[in-house]
Amino acid sequence: MLSCTRCDYREQDGLIVNSGSSLSDFFPFQSMRPFQKEALDQIKEALMSTKFVILEAPVGFGKSAVAVALTRNQESAHILTSTKQLQDQYSSDFRFPVVKGKSNFRCDIPNSTGMFPPVSKGRCVIDWKLKDCPHYATFEEYQAHKNKQCNRDSKCENLKDNKLCSYYNQKWLGFKAPITVYNYPFLLSEMKYAADVPHRKLLVCDEVHDLEKQIVSFASFSLKSSALKKFHDQVRPEEEFIIPNKGEDEPIAWIDVLVDIEDFLKEFSDLTIEEDIEQDQVAISKEMLKDIESFEADLKANPTNWVINNTKLSGNSIEEVVFQPIHVGNYTFPLFNVADSVLLMSATVFSKERLCKALGISVNEASFIQILESTFPVDHRPIFAMNTAKLNRETMDTALPKITQMIDKIMFHYKYERGIIHTTSYRQTNYILQNISKTNRARLKTTEGKSNRTELMKKHDSSDASVLISPSLHQGVDLKDESSRFQIIMKVPFPDLSQKRTKIKLKRDREWYDWQTALRLVQTYGRSIRSEDDYAATYILDTNFTHFIQKKRNLFPKFFLEALRGNSQALPSITDY
Ligand code: SF4
Repeated sequence: MLSCTRCDYREQDGLIVNSGSSLSDFFPFQSMRPFQKEALDQIKEALMSTKFVILEAPVGFGKSAVAVALTRNQESAHILTSTKQLQDQYSSDFRFPVVKGKSNFRCDIPNSTGMFPPVSKGRCVIDWKLKDCPHYATFEEYQAHKNKQCNRDSKCENLKDNKLCSYYNQKWLGFKAPITVYNYPFLLSEMKYAADVPHRKLLVCDEVHDLEKQIVSFASFSLKSSALKKFHDQVRPEEEFIIPNKGEDEPIAWIDVLVDIEDFLKEFSDLTIEEDIEQDQVAISKEMLKDIESFEADLKANPTNWVINNTKLSGNSIEEVVFQPIHVGNYTFPLFNVADSVLLMSATVFSKERLCKALGISVNEASFIQILESTFPVDHRPIFAMNTAKLNRETMDTALPKITQMIDKIMFHYKYERGIIHTTSYRQTNYILQNISKTNRARLKTTEGKSNRTELMKKHDSSDASVLISPSLHQGVDLKDESSRFQIIMKVPFPDLSQKRTKIKLKRDREWYDWQTALRLVQTYGRSIRSEDDYAATYILDTNFTHFIQKKRNLFPKFFLEALRGNSQALPSITDY
């Protein structure tokens, strides 16, 4: 345990790195299965010749344990996950420190009402320089402190009684540790705004099938009239605030609008110092200013890489306009440069070329290791192509009654068991909720509303025969054993064509569109069968599935194809109607 002789600050024990000499010695569990050892050896070898190694392995393979063995062997790694839940799992299973964003911590300096705001709205975000805060130390000062190199001039005095700012404390602890876990939005934001992330030997990107979406969501930028008006009206009360409509064809035509908004946000920030406007408002305006300046730079640097989505009009003025990047390579480049080597992992990759293209990686720079066999017995996880009705925009209204009837039948068959229904929109979800039998309606729980995912899962697991229904539970949920004995995939989850970015991507690259559909189908399939002893049946109702699988069979992994059954093989109580 490290401690400081001046202020008696003590650091908890971090990860104890195994000092064995073979890769197997770094494996975090007592026994390693032969195929895990094989994969580990292949990864190690591939990393000698290519910067990127893509590992695709089915659910139950134990990808995390393989990645942990490698990171422990390297003793220098960042691990990136797509959800907080996965982040916490790495932390609790392997004792790696997790670094979280500012909104998870409180500032130690009270605001004018005596409250301690979140760090994202702390004094250092408003009008202080970081060095002015008595609770702050730079990473170098923090390290000197931890290494007992403090002297009279150091910041050590400020760290007495563990008074280092809680946000920076966990961030520096994470940066100092050899292996650290983050989620994608946090590290992307750190790389862009703070630019202080230390270089490591290895970067592990877990659930990498989701990385393109995560980056699009991180880089997307929205102008909202309702959010900007209050700042405008404070500094320019004589002017009416409108966001002029610059059309959807040329994103670069919006530069003048951005510059004008930047001007009044800057004016607002200046006002605050003299007029003591509430700290929250100042923090929000500064955050907006930072986002606009950053987006403006991105737009100017690559004007043809942007698309305008979801413009909402209010009279002649724009209520909201959203800009999205088409390609994400500009964002992955700095991310992947944070380490010498990159391990990209997922149960759903299916094509090295497609993943490389989506993330802006040169195919020659990547090796692909694919584990084709699932260790889960195939008869524990059948997929029934029910061909109940064709679901697309034109047929939706006429197909939904038939689909609802089938869902009722399946739910009656599993009347004592829990399960899940995957829809692709809240419109479908609401239709089912309103039109299914009363008995089955009482069993349904959905993600819409205020309850968060963890609460929803707790409610589901504590109610007999509960059935989840949602368009958003196709990934990141772990419905093991009794949590789900059946799952219904209502519609083939083709990417949403109401999004302009999706339309452009489809027009330019049809294969990308089909690949995305296959990724989501297989991700959804993986929700309810989580171990060798687990079992659950999957029912796919949309007739489009049969056509899709016939045409795009090459996109699907062996473990999915070998589980496919026709509707005649489903139980008579379900097929007989
Ligand atoms: S560094 Fe200081 S001002 Fe900034 S959030 Fe931490 S405690 Fe607050």
